Amino acid sequence: MTITPQPGIMDIALYVGGQSRLEGHASPLKLSSNENPYGTSTRALAALERSAATLHRYPSTDHAELRAAIAEIHELDAERIICGVGSDEVLQFLAQCYAGPGDEVIHTEHGFAMYPILARAAGATPIEVAERERVVDVDAILAACNERTRIIYLTNPGNPTGTMIPITEVARLAEAIPDQVILVLDGAYVEFAEDYDGGARLVETRDNVVMTRTFSKIHGLGGLRIGWGYGPRAIIDVLNRVRQPFNLSSTQLSVAEAAIRDEGFTEHCRAENARLRGWLRDKLLGLGIACDESHANYVLARFADEAEAGACDGALRAEGILVRRVGGYGLPQALRITVGDEAGCTRVIDAIARFKGAA
Ligand code: PMP
Repeated sequence: MTITPQPGIMDIALYVGGQSRLEGHASPLKLSSNENPYGTSTRALAALERSAATLHRYPSTDHAELRAAIAEIHELDAERIICGVGSDEVLQFLAQCYAGPGDEVIHTEHGFAMYPILARAAGATPIEVAERERVVDVDAILAACNERTRIIYLTNPGNPTGTMIPITEVARLAEAIPDQVILVLDGAYVEFAEDYDGGARLVETRDNVVMTRTFSKIHGLGGLRIGWGYGPRAIIDVLNRVRQPFNLSSTQLSVAEAAIRDEGFTEHCRAENARLRGWLRDKLLGLGIACDESHANYVLARFADEAEAGACDGALRAEGILVRRVGGYGLPQALRITVGDEAGCTRVIDAIARFKGAA
C-alpha cells in the first residue's frame, strides 16, 4: 500500500545542486555553486571555535544579537529582520504563510529552481513568466498577475543569468501589483552588484515588499546555512509564527555575527570578484563565446548550441573543473561559471581556450 502525500507534492522535481565530486579527480576546481573562493573570514572561524564552549546551552530564540549586527552593518531596523536556515528557509516561510491551494506564485523563466518547489510544497500553483533576452520583464510579470496571485519571487541580480533590473523597475513593479501580492526580492547576490541595496530602502517605504539575503555567498558560509529576510513588521510577525524557536544553532548565530562584522573580508571578496568577473567575461568574449555583463559572482557562458555547451563541460571535467549546466533553468546552450580566485579563473579560461582550439 502506498500512503498518498498531499496534492501537488509528487509534481515537485527534486532539486539538483552543483556537483562537488568528479571521478578521477581528488580535489576538482569547483566553480559550480557560486561559493566564495576565498573561504570564510578568519574572524568567523575564530567565533566557530569559541562557540564550542556553549554547545550544551540552547541558542537564542529571537536572534537578537545577529539581527542587531545585520541592522548595524546595513543600516536597517532590527525589528524587521528574520533569520533562517539559509535564505531558502525565509523563502519557504513566505510560501508557507501566504500561498495555498488555489493560489498562484509567480517566478521568472530563468529564476531560482526553489521557487516552484516552495510553491508546490505549499499547495499553490507556480506560474513561470518569460524573460526578455535573459532579463526580467516587469511588464510580463504584471500581465501574469491576477486575483489568485499571492507571491512574486524575483532574483535580482538573476541566477544563473547574472543580469539585473534597476531599482526603479523593481519599484515600478511593487507599485503596480495587486493589493494581495507580496513581491519577494531574492538578494542572494546583492553584495556583488554595484550601488544596489537589494531593495532595502524600498522595503521601508512599502508594505508589500520583502527582501531576502544570505551568508552563503559573499560571507563564505554556504556550509553553515544562514540567511535572513527584511520586510514590513506585519509580514515578519507572520513569518515568525511558523519559524521553529531554535531554527538557528548557537554556532550559526555567533559565526554569522562575526562574519558580517568582518567588513574588511567582505570588501576584499567584493573587489576581487568584480575584477576577476570582468576579466573572465572579456576572455570569454575574446574566445567568441557570448556572455552578458554579470552583476553577481558568476558569468553565464553561452555557446552556439546545447551540443557545444555539453562538449565544453565534458572537456572541463576531463581537466578536473566543475562548472554548472543550466538546461534546467531554460538555458541548455549555456554554462554558468562561478568567478573563482585568480588561479581558478586562469585555469578555467585556459581549459576553455584549449577546448576552442585557441590555445
Ligand atoms: N536564491 C538564489 C537565487 C540562490 O542562488 C540561492 C543559492 N543557490 C539561494 C536563494 C539560497 O541560498 P541559501 O539558502 O544558501 O541562503
